[in-house]
Amino acid sequence: MPSTAALIVAGGTGQRFQSHLPKQYHLLAGKPVLYHTIHAFLTHPRIDWVQCVIHPAHRDYYAAAIADLELPPPLFGGETRQDSVRQGLMGLTSSLLPPQNPDFVLIHDAARPLVDPALIDRVISALNEAEAVIPALPVVDTLKSGKIGGTALKTVPRDALCRAQTPQGFHFQRILELHQRHAGQNYTDDSALCEAAGIHPLLVEGNERNMKITTEADLNQAGQFLRAMEEYRTGSGFDVHRFTALEEGQQGVIVCGVIIPHDHALEGHSDADVGLHALTDAILGAFGAGDIGHHFPPNDPRWRGADSGQFLQHALLLLRQRGGRLIHADLTLICERPKIGPHREAMLVRLADLMEVPRGRISIKATTTEGLGFTGRREGIAAQAIATIAIPQG
Ligand code: MG
Repeated sequence: MPSTAALIVAGGTGQRFQSHLPKQYHLLAGKPVLYHTIHAFLTHPRIDWVQCVIHPAHRDYYAAAIADLELPPPLFGGETRQDSVRQGLMGLTSSLLPPQNPDFVLIHDAARPLVDPALIDRVISALNEAEAVIPALPVVDTLKSGKIGGTALKTVPRDALCRAQTPQGFHFQRILELHQRHAGQNYTDDSALCEAAGIHPLLVEGNERNMKITTEADLNQAGQFLRAMEEYRTGSGFDVHRFTALEEGQQGVIVCGVIIPHDHALEGHSDADVGLHALTDAILGAFGAGDIGHHFPPNDPRWRGADSGQFLQHALLLLRQRGGRLIHADLTLICERPKIGPHREAMLVRLADLMEVPRGRISIKATTTEGLGFTGRREGIAAQAIATIAIPQG
């Protein structure tokens, strides 16, 4: 199989935005635009390598934007887009990890975060037939030559025209050589270099959702597209830990990250936080990501006495890496003792902090089993949880 790299060009300073923050770092559905863009390529099975080219002044924005993602260090772009692409292509010839000199490269604008897997597939597949490929869309509006404020000079036939999008795909060596040959000139996109060299790119079907964000209105529109592509799912979790004698220094049980004074502790390999375990399983369950024992095996010495907050945060990290987010979590703690009520507020504060969601999206309830069963006999605490998530369809 040919190796394919994605080169994401994020060097723009975005003067059409009413803000100092460049458009690719604005938030879209809670994540920077660039995060969405990179994520689309990182998760595509036919992309072997994702390389970003950024403006050197945006280093800190970039580091914050990609904190959850595994990426090689960014390359720094030049004065123009064309310069930045050339720097990026040259970087791909000397990268420390494969693929150096990939067979194909897809060059994509950072400001098109909604590029979809099928479009990426079409571009890569077409590179088996052509040296250059452009995703494109038909022109639907009637076209006039003229400037707004002036007069229309004539109607331009639209049948022979289309709108070019990215990612544009190329045979790597060819586009590298063209960029080196035309360095310092000012072509508006990469395929224009091919056209200048007599290579006619193949046009494949683009996607209206693969819009370029240049204004705040575009950003709102992209947010609406994203929400329309999401689905809601729920997962459930259940956990039990038995009471055991207090060890020296122990004050009671830990539930939802809060120490509750009690005459017993809970037994477990980690800190035995029954509430956080049920919540972690509910979140993992909502997107089919296994269970807590799969990610944190109880026989692994690393998790002895561990703070279970890290289990919960790991589940949320996996969720974010799938493009999802937590909407709501509802936890029920089942025990006769200790009394949960007096600690509920502290638990809610702790959970909101751990899960980075507003308090109103978390619920903690407590019940007894009327003296029946193991919780009724005060042998331990049970917890059950439901988590609701939003996640891209598919
Ligand atoms: Mg447990």
